[in-house]
Amino acid sequence: MKGKVLIVGGGAMGTCIAMQVASRCDPLKEPVILIEKGQLGSGSSGRAGAIVHQSYSDREVAGMARDAVRLYHDIQSTTGRSLGLRRTGVLSVVNASDTDGLAQMDADLEMQTSIGIKVRRVDAAEIRQLCPGIEVADDAVGRFEAEGGYVNPAKAIKTFGVLARGRGATTRLGVQDLDIEIENGKVRGVHTSQGYFETPNVVLATGSWTATILKKMGIDLPLSVVRSEECVLNMPQVNQGEEGMDLFDGPVADIETRFRQDPLELKPVPHPVLLDISSGFHAHCEPHTDQTRVGRLGLSAFNSVKDLDNLSKQASPEFLEWAVSSLGNRMPIYKDMGMTGSLAHYTAVSTDHRPIVGPVQGIEGLFIVVGFSGSDFHLAPSIGEGMAQMILDEPVSAFTPEFFSAARFG
Ligand SMILES: Cc1cc2nc3c(=O)[nH]c(=O)nc-3n(C[C@H](O)[C@H](O)[C@H](O)COP(=O)(O)OP(=O)(O)OC[C@H]3O[C@@H](n4cnc5c(N)ncnc54)[C@H](O)[C@@H]3O)c2cc1C
Repeated sequence: MKGKVLIVGGGAMGTCIAMQVASRCDPLKEPVILIEKGQLGSGSSGRAGAIVHQSYSDREVAGMARDAVRLYHDIQSTTGRSLGLRRTGVLSVVNASDTDGLAQMDADLEMQTSIGIKVRRVDAAEIRQLCPGIEVADDAVGRFEAEGGYVNPAKAIKTFGVLARGRGATTRLGVQDLDIEIENGKVRGVHTSQGYFETPNVVLATGSWTATILKKMGIDLPLSVVRSEECVLNMPQVNQGEEGMDLFDGPVADIETRFRQDPLELKPVPHPVLLDISSGFHAHCEPHTDQTRVGRLGLSAFNSVKDLDNLSKQASPEFLEWAVSSLGNRMPIYKDMGMTGSLAHYTAVSTDHRPIVGPVQGIEGLFIVVGFSGSDFHLAPSIGEGMAQMILDEPVSAFTPEFFSAARFG
C-alpha cells in the first residue's frame, strides 16, 4: 500500500494528526494511513482524564491550549459529533501561605489574560460559591476559567478517527512489528505484520513507546517514561452538595442540548474541575460514569521501565491513600464517598518537560510527536493542525516549531 503520510499510533495525537493531514490531502493521489498496534485509544489517551484547561505557565503552550478550546468547540459545532465536552469550569486554589504558588499564579494570570485567555482571579468567597463544600481559609486565592472542563477521551478519540476516515484516511488496527526503512537518509516505507507501506513521510505518535522505536534506529533522545496514576471515587450527587452547577450557557451547551447524543452528559456536576495547587492534586467529576477522578499535579518518576506492555494498570496503595486524604481535606463531602477503583498508565517525558514535536534531524521524512507530560490530551487538535502544516510544507500557524524542536537538545 502507498501513502503520502503514514501515522503510527492511534492515541489522541495520532488520530488528530490523521484528521488534519487527511483534510488537506487528496485521498486518491495522496493517501493518508494511520496504523495502530492495538485499538484506537489503547495507549495512555484512553485512560486520560482529558481535562481541558489553559492554566499553563509557558506562553507557547498556553496559546495552544487557548486554541484547543476553540478547536474543540468548532469540531462539535461544525460536525455535530460529540467529544463529550463539558464546560464545568476549572478552578485553581492556592493557600495564602504558599507564597511560591501565589506568585506563579499571578504571573500566569497576567500572561494568560494578555494572550486572550478568559480567566480571572477569585477570592475565598467566590471560591466557596463556585465550588460548594470546599474548605479554604479566608485569605485563599483562586484562578477560574469558565471555558474549561473535560472531554470524554474514548468518545473524542472515536470522533477524531471517524473524522479522519471521513476525510479519506485509512485506519489499520492490530498492526505489529514496525520496522521503518531508511534509504540514503530518507524514509522509504514501513514493514509491518500487515505488509509493506511505501511512504515518504512517517509520523511517530507512539507515546511511551517512542524512545524504544527510535533507539532501534540508533536515535537517542532524552526521553524517560513516567507513571501517571488516578484514584476513582463515587461522585457526590448535586443535591448532596448545596447547589449544583450546570453551568455556563454558551454555544457548546447549546449544541450538546440540540443533538442530545448522550443525555447523561447533560447531568449536572457538583463542582468544577479542581486544581489544588497547594495540595498538589486535581479532581474532576464525570457525570456519565457517576465518578470523580483524582490525580497528582505533576508526575512521579518511574525508572527502569523495560516492558511497557506488561505494567500494572492500577495505582499504588500509597498513592490512593494520599489522593483520598488530600481530596477529603479540601472537600469533606468526599470523606463519605467510597473509592470505586484506580487507573495508571505511562507517558514519555523529555528532560525539560516540554514535548518534542517535529522532524527528526538527519532523517528526511521522519517526524515525532512525544513528551506530553501527563496533562496534554487537550492539546491534540492544535498539535494535529501544526503537524499537518509542517509535513505538508505549509507555514506553521498552530504553534512555534522552534519551541518544540528536537534540535534544542543538540
Ligand atoms: C492516568 C492518566 C491520566 C491523564 N490525565 C490527563 C488529563 O486529565 N488531561 C490531559 O490533558 N492529559 C492527561 N493524561 C496524559 C495524556 O493521556 C497523554 O499526554 C496523551 O494522551 C498522549 O497521547 P499520545 O497519542 O501521544 O499517546 P498514546 O495515547 O499513548 O498513544 C500512542 C499509541 O501508539 C500505539 N503504538 C505504540 N507503538 C506502536 C507501534 N510500534 N506500532 C503501532 N502502534 C503503536 C499505542 O498502542 C498507542 O495507542 C493522562 C495520562 C494518564 C496515564
